[in-house]
Amino acid sequence: MNNTLLFVYKSMKTENTKFNISEIFYSIQGEGSRAGMPCVFIRLQGCNFRCDWCDTPYALESNDDAEWMTGAQILEKVNSFECDFVEFTGGEPLFQKDSVDLINDFVDNGFLVAIETNGYHTFENLNSAAVKIMDIKCPGSRMQRFNNPDNFKYLTQNDELKFVVLNKSDFDWAVNYIKENDLFAKVSIVLFSPVFGKLEPVQLSEWILESHLPIRLQLQIHKFIWEPNTRGV
Ligand code: SF4
Repeated sequence: MNNTLLFVYKSMKTENTKFNISEIFYSIQGEGSRAGMPCVFIRLQGCNFRCDWCDTPYALESNDDAEWMTGAQILEKVNSFECDFVEFTGGEPLFQKDSVDLINDFVDNGFLVAIETNGYHTFENLNSAAVKIMDIKCPGSRMQRFNNPDNFKYLTQNDELKFVVLNKSDFDWAVNYIKENDLFAKVSIVLFSPVFGKLEPVQLSEWILESHLPIRLQLQIHKFIWEPNTRGV
């Protein structure tokens, strides 16, 4: 039976809007508070940042090599995986002009939605039911000057903050940034993740323990399940 033929969706604002898509795949969620859950990943092409340690360099430029899909086609493809948890990622998922409408369309269609975002573009029009995982850039990324504190006012206890840490200097910077912006009060989960292959998890764990702060260690578990450079997992 072709499941996609049976799928009836609520009307979508982005039904006929085209998006530049890097890949859509079904895998184990490797990050955040829902790590370990089956999830469909929608990777949008294009990002306004160039983090030193970016692990998706193939998704940074909008280009015609990647597929262009309408909102309806994306929804149909996602539905074929029979999984109601989706994550919008990239690249930067809010980089494309109509991404917010696409994300809201998925919320309206009953999906549990997470967004892995660098937080540069405003969260103002995002449906608050979508879980924002805001990746605040430490100096080691060389992108910290683009962090956008204006978006902190849109965070709720439903959302999560993430700091990818390269070294002790990044760790100390992140702790100070959290305190200066009162971020432990704004969200329930603050994640620190080591730059894969550059900082040993045991070292980050020791710094977290010494700090006595409610920081949660995050390892990208998909990089331990599969070979670290494997795409589509
Ligand atoms: S924001 Fe994310 S996708 Fe963009 S360069 Fe940085 S790590 Fe890569």
